Parts: sequence; C-alpha cells; structure tokens
Amino acid sequence: MRLGFAGLGAIGTPMAARCAAVHQLAVWNRTAQPAAEFAKANPGSRHAATPRDVAQGADAVITCLPTSAEVEGLLDGPEGLLAGMAPGSILVDCTSGDPASSRRIAGRLATLGIAFVDAPLSGGPPLAIQGKLTVMCGGSPEEVARASLVVAPFAAKVVRMGPVGAGHAMKAANNALLAANILTLAEALVTLAKAGIAPRDAVDVLNASSGRSFVSEVLIPDRVLTGTWPRLFRLALLEKDIGIFHDLAREVAVADPVLGFSRDQCRALRAELGESADYLDPIRVAEQAAGVELRG
Ligand code: NDP
Repeated sequence: MRLGFAGLGAIGTPMAARCAAVHQLAVWNRTAQPAAEFAKANPGSRHAATPRDVAQGADAVITCLPTSAEVEGLLDGPEGLLAGMAPGSILVDCTSGDPASSRRIAGRLATLGIAFVDAPLSGGPPLAIQGKLTVMCGGSPEEVARASLVVAPFAAKVVRMGPVGAGHAMKAANNALLAANILTLAEALVTLAKAGIAPRDAVDVLNASSGRSFVSEVLIPDRVLTGTWPRLFRLALLEKDIGIFHDLAREVAVADPVLGFSRDQCRALRAELGESADYLDPIRVAEQAAGVELRG
C-alpha cells in the first residue's frame, strides 16, 4: 500500500515508523526537521514537502494532529491535502478530534469521492512502538474495513463504534475517564500519604482492590512512584479531550456534573502549567499542595 502520514508528534512518529516497515510511506510534518530525520532513519520512507505532496499517489493518508481544527486546516489550498488526494483514496484521521468536525470533513470528502474514517487511538507511544494500539473507528462498515488495513501496522484492536464521529465520541469518553481518574487518584494518594500510609503500600492494596484502574496499575507505579515522569502526552491534549466529551454531553442533553467538574479542573491546570505540561503533572500539583511526594 502507498501511504501518506501527516503529523510526526509524540505518538505519530512511532505509528509512522510501524507503517514504514511494511508500506511505501511519505511523511509530512509542519516543522520540516522531524520529517527529514524520520526519512533518514526509516529506509523506504520519503520526506514530503507539503500536505499535497504527502497525499500525492497515496492509497490512504493518515493524519495525527492535535485537534480536528488542524486537520481541517490542512485540507485546502494549492498545497493542501485535497490537492493531492485522488478519488477512491481514504483519509484515516487518527487525531483525537471531535465528532461534529469529522462529520463536516467526511461530507466534504464524499463530494470528491474520497472516503473518511475517524480512527483515534489509545495506548500511548510505548504501545505504538509495539504495534499494540486500540483504534476506535467511525465510518461505514466498508470504509472502516479499509481503514483497518491502513492502521494494522500499529493496531492490536480495531473496533467500529458507528458512523463518522463515533470513534471520536468514544475516545473523548475514554479520556474524560482517564482525566477524572488521574485527578481523583492524586487526591486519594496524597491524603493517604499525609495520613502516614506509604504510597507504594497504598498502590499495592488499591491494585488488589476495587478502586484500581489503569492509572493505579500502570501509570502511578511506572512513572510516579519511580519518579521518572516521562513526558509522553501533553496535558493540553487531555484537557482538549475532556472538553470534547463535555460538548458531546451537552449536544445529547446529558448532564455531566462529575466529569464536567473534572473538565473545569483540567482547564485550570492547563492554564496554570502551560501547553507543554505532561498529563501526569497534576499529580505533582497535588503533591506540592499537600507537601508530600508519592515515591517509593
Ligand atoms: P504532539 O503535540 O506531540 O504533536 C502534535 C503534532 O501535530 C506535531 O507533529 C505538530 O507539528 C503537529 N501540528 C501542530 N499544530 C499543527 C498545525 N497547525 N498544522 C499542522 N500540524 C500541526 O501530539 P501527539 O502526537 O501526542 O498527539 C497527536 C494526537 O494523538 C492528538 O489528537 C492526541 O490527543 C492524540 N493521542 C496522543 C497520545 C499520546 O500518548 N501522545 C495517545 C492517544 C492519542 P510540529 O512538530 O510542527 O509542532
């Protein structure tokens, strides 16, 4: 398959590397250097100069950008994606985007004979490197079947959630729960630490009890207790995701008092910590406020 890949960020880069190992791949990035370095490091891939160039001759184009706004921003103009994409090709959007924008993009592409599937992912860079991401898709059954072949190099599980936008809805709900989990677990663990319970003991017992989660089982032991804090996913992106969930809840007229509050907290933390903060940095804020460190 001939693929184009736009967006060599923290997760896009390992996804593209998996694609380069099995397909002819062109890569484009807003800042040229990561794409030039990628093409050097991954034989068989080439550095495309523009979105049009990345799409030229491709059976499928993958986008992995911060939000749907950046995806829409890439479509138009003489050097835009649509100037390069051929009728019969497919745009697989792995951005954690929003359902309404995806429906709008899909509608535009359909008039040009180009298929669209929203295909956001979960798993983070470590699972992208291993080709073990979960991909949640929105589109017709036929188009999701095509998209499944496109994402196969980096996906262990691909599920069709419904029509266009359903993948983004699913992803927003997942990350709203992730955000709430990080915030609530930080509160619980610093409280226990101040009450004299060792963080490692608290996490061990939680993970053998009903309050456990991915955050308590993986993120806290691997990154917080060890004090390694790798920067793999920006808090700004998590805040964007819980915001998409909140908008979706309003759209379907469902009250979300708990997740809505978590969204407000994330928004305030993003403003306080800045655009490059990691999604686990709110745990540091909770530590500092309580005057304890969750290490051990
Ligand atoms: P990063 O912030 O690491 O990278 C963002 C990428 O988008 C960069 O390639 C950046 O280019 C590019 N970009 C930013 N603005 C524009 C623009 N206006 N036009 C064109 N390109 C632009 O993000 P991630 O790779 O972490 O995330 C990408 C998507 O995947 C997001 O939707 C995120 O929510 C989602 N995601 C991320 C996960 C993770 O663990 N990191 C896990 C699951 C989903 P440049 O290099 O020039 O800045």
